[in-house]
Amino acid sequence: MTAIAFIGLGNMGGPMAANLVRAGHEVTGFDLNPAGVQALVAAGGKQAASAGEAARAADVVITMLPAGEHVRAVWTGQGGLIDVAKQRGGEKPLLIDCSTIDVESARAVAEEARAAGFDMLDAPVSGGVGGAQAGTLTFMVGGPDAGFARGEPILKAMGKNIVHAGASGAGQAAKICNNMMLAINMAGLAEGLVLATKLGLDHAKLFQIASTSSGQSWALTTYCPSPGLVPTAPANRDYAGGFATALMLKDVRLSQAAAEAVGAPTPLGAHAAKLYAALAEAGEAGRDFSAIYPWLAKQARGSVGEG
Ligand code: NAD
Repeated sequence: MTAIAFIGLGNMGGPMAANLVRAGHEVTGFDLNPAGVQALVAAGGKQAASAGEAARAADVVITMLPAGEHVRAVWTGQGGLIDVAKQRGGEKPLLIDCSTIDVESARAVAEEARAAGFDMLDAPVSGGVGGAQAGTLTFMVGGPDAGFARGEPILKAMGKNIVHAGASGAGQAAKICNNMMLAINMAGLAEGLVLATKLGLDHAKLFQIASTSSGQSWALTTYCPSPGLVPTAPANRDYAGGFATALMLKDVRLSQAAAEAVGAPTPLGAHAAKLYAALAEAGEAGRDFSAIYPWLAKQARGSVGEG
């Protein structure tokens, strides 16, 4: 049993914290939104009145927040979680941020933690809300070896694949590369489906052929944006739930900011950022990002609906 502080009990953090409780850990949580805290208490966790109070006696401190600015605000500066950890006697707590944020913020926060004598891991996840609930997330982890060795058994209570990607920031780097690849992939698949419709080709036939040919992809075989082909895909729920277009847009923009900073050519990533921005502006920010397919289909000449 480990005393764990969990800050950020939203769509992802809520079920992740509940899985830590289920694994026998003592979890104390805080979120600005009381509903998240109440859900943790209902799952057997404890509530705190602030992030600092949650972290005061914790052996492991975990955050799952929206973006870099929230992570910097919660961890750094006077009264931040690193400051709180400094006040604690006994063994030094392990610090873990699971949010998807920019590499620069992840490295800056980890550096402040290191300078204060703590191991900190950036450990963003893949697998969505379903993976968070089922405890099958993939964790991409950046940080020192000793911190990874200590954190791995804790992360295992929330995920299936725990990969040490490298030094601080490597977890975030892996996450934004993966999501940029997925964003491009899904847009390409949407184009293939729209073209198939216009050429009079049945989507089920294209699926049967492409899923065993060189056009095969995760987006096609496990997340197909054309309804009726992969039962668990958000396309069958009118693109509800899943991974919101707004979050995909955030991640592609993070990839483009990183690419610009290091001088990596990512022309398709840049174009994907424009496509998902247009999708979000068209009112689809809250729907799954695979809604790029019906959005594109509606733009086809002579179109009356979704492909
Ligand atoms: P969310 O908005 O549901 O949850 C974030 C929570 O953080 C909210 O409950 C909010 O109240 C809380 N919060 C914000 N500032 C806070 C503060 N200062 N103190 C305490 N709580 C604070 O978002 P989510 O879907 O859970 O995503 C969290 C992170 O995980 C994001 O970085 C996202 O990109 C990433 N992610 C999400 C998914 C997904 O499918 N939803 C998948 C992989 C990764």
